[in-house]
Amino acid sequence: MPPVFALVDCNNFYVSCERVFNPKLAGKPVIVLSNNDGCAISRSNEAKSLGIKMGVPAFQIRDLIKANGVQVYSSNYALYGDMSQRVMQTLAGFTPDIEIYSIDEAFLDLSRFKRYNLTDYGHRIKSTIKKWVGIPVSVGIAETKTLAKIANRIAKKSIKAEGVLNLTASPYQNKALEITDVRDVWGVGPAYTRFLKEKGIRNALQLRDADDKLIKQRMGIVGTRLIHELRGVPCYCLEHCPLPKKGITVSRSFKHAIETLNELEEAVAAYVTIGAEKLRKEHSVSGVLMVFVMTNRFKRENLYSNLNTLRLPVSTSDTSELIYYAHLGLKEIYRKGYLYKKVGVMFNDLVPENQIQSNLFDVWDRNRSMKLMKALDNINIKMGSSTLKYAAVGLRQNQRWKTMFDSRSQSYTTNWNQLLEVQ
Ligand SMILES: [Mg+2]
Repeated sequence: MPPVFALVDCNNFYVSCERVFNPKLAGKPVIVLSNNDGCAISRSNEAKSLGIKMGVPAFQIRDLIKANGVQVYSSNYALYGDMSQRVMQTLAGFTPDIEIYSIDEAFLDLSRFKRYNLTDYGHRIKSTIKKWVGIPVSVGIAETKTLAKIANRIAKKSIKAEGVLNLTASPYQNKALEITDVRDVWGVGPAYTRFLKEKGIRNALQLRDADDKLIKQRMGIVGTRLIHELRGVPCYCLEHCPLPKKGITVSRSFKHAIETLNELEEAVAAYVTIGAEKLRKEHSVSGVLMVFVMTNRFKRENLYSNLNTLRLPVSTSDTSELIYYAHLGLKEIYRKGYLYKKVGVMFNDLVPENQIQSNLFDVWDRNRSMKLMKALDNINIKMGSSTLKYAAVGLRQNQRWKTMFDSRSQSYTTNWNQLLEVQ
């Protein structure tokens, strides 16, 4: 039985999250900025119509923002992550065959619903998520994931589709492929786009009907799979359980460069804290810790960057132990007299926490440490993150290494103190 896939994608996700809690934003141009309020990473349709491009630095559009009353928000990942979870949970109610593809996208396998009218089913998914979570989504349905992506793109743009496009056995399939630029086909990057256009292959229809040999020669097995997928022959199935993460990286660029070891140590301790929390959430421990520092890579002079890799005596997810080793590693690569713009930590060699290899000379009380971390996590989950934190992170307010979010909305859904108030 040939499968049927749906791709459900949230429209302008971060902006839509902001609108759920601030209905006044409806119909207005709204953008959400990346860390440190750098670039526009989510735009409402009204903002797109003003010509605000994805990824444009905020300072370049300052005048446009002012002239058009564009509402500007800092990113609020606590809110977006939680809203994402609600969307995914709602989707899981429609079918257990779901692959969470990104924070705002999921593939569903709808094969078992084939005897229903799939377009109607798509509309039901769409209206349920709108009603239950408040987020507008688009749904693309087709025989392969690649075609579902294309259907989704068109569903989002076409007024007639009203957010749902079903391309299975559709007379519009050729038309849909024809109006899709090869650049916008799933898996075709800038290099392949250039190659394909040189060969006169400009849209997805031409790519589907391209010479197999030519595509294989240049794009290899990935290219072969791609054209098969466009022909309706599935090469990719649903990936139910995401592969265990290879590593966890936590790093930030500072708005203002910092110079002292003390400040770098605080930043490193804060990033280790975030990373270690992630490790414990996944029930993993890390065997290799890396610390890196970097000066501003856009400057011409006084450049310095370095990376230190430490193999830990015993794999761990204990925050204080990891901070201890991260500081050791940092000290070795810190050089005085540089202006540091970025530091980070990476945890590698992750294994499940129940597979820790013990070490004969281990001096750490692992039992006690596990219990302590559990208590710490529980309190921080209940009372808001960093209710309890390590003193190494520093206690001063307005630390210069902290990421800046000047116009962040509240954590409406994850912090008791920031619930939405109705006046
Ligand atoms: Mg989206």
